[in-house]
Amino acid sequence: QTALDNDIGIAFYDPELHQSNLNKFHLEPKLKEAIRNRELCLYYQPIVNTITSEIETFEALIRWIQPDGSFITPFKFIPLAEETGLIFDIDSFVIDETCNQISKWITKYGPDKEFSVGVNISAKHWVNPSLIKEVDSALRKYNIPSKYLKLEMTESAMVDDANAVKKIVSILKSMGIKIALDDFGTGYSSLGYLIEFPVDILKVDKVFVDDLHTENKRQKLMSHILSIANSLGMKSIVEGVEHVQQVEILKQFSCDQIQGYYFYKPMPPVEIEKIFN
Ligand code: C2E
Ligand code: MG
Ligand code: MG
Ligand code: MG
Repeated sequence: QTALDNDIGIAFYDPELHQSNLNKFHLEPKLKEAIRNRELCLYYQPIVNTITSEIETFEALIRWIQPDGSFITPFKFIPLAEETGLIFDIDSFVIDETCNQISKWITKYGPDKEFSVGVNISAKHWVNPSLIKEVDSALRKYNIPSKYLKLEMTESAMVDDANAVKKIVSILKSMGIKIALDDFGTGYSSLGYLIEFPVDILKVDKVFVDDLHTENKRQKLMSHILSIANSLGMKSIVEGVEHVQQVEILKQFSCDQIQGYYFYKPMPPVEIEKIFN
């Protein structure tokens, strides 16, 4: 029995809130130090052509590997970084490191090998014109053509200052960078965004995939989402595919690309180089 159990105040005790305060308190200084000490690194998850299963593109996914070898999941520290403003440093690091990796792969595989890498950019960053400068200077620094880089935004980026985001998106597109709408179908979903924000790629969230092979309604929904993407001239990627039955269904629905553990998990560059050739 703790003091709290007897406290009338327990009615207001929210374990989740308490947990998040604790995390913020402990994690923020640790995260700052991790950025300084370069404990953050990128894994890359291959994304395949639905029909051929060939690797066509990758998503860069951040990993925080602590000195003892344990991982802290981005689901835990990205929201914290967004709260504290550290996300700007993280996004800048990810843009720079991805361009660095792209230039190494161009050297390794030659300029005729086609691939691209998608980078997650926090909703906070999409209203800030500094994003354009950061992307532009990373492309110049590593001397890579813009076609190799994709930027992923979530629907939540569009709600705050839609006009600012629209401007930034159109400048990035004019630079030849492809824009993907990530986690489509979760959170703020509004079909109107698909008209207002002319993104190149629609990434359908894992929630639509999980019961795809067991629920007929899910299949209907998925089929319609993919035909919307198709008819608006967007490429489609379905995320979180873990079962062969899901792959078979997606083949019938003319989904362009698949990302999921069924094919590949995120892995460090050295592992990518063993399978990508
Ligand atoms: P996301 O951008 O939607 O990335 C896809 C997530 O789904 C990744 O989780 C990936 O590992 C996971 N995933 C892919 N296929 C499967 C599957 O078949 N099954 C399951 N269960 N999971 C699958 P991860 O790497 O833990 O990243 C989580 C989220 O954290 C990302 O979701 C993204 O929102 C954020 N994030 C990751 N890296 C970065 C980054 O560099 N910068 C920013 N700003 N956010 C990032
Ligand atoms: Mg993503
Ligand atoms: Mg996603
Ligand atoms: Mg997601």
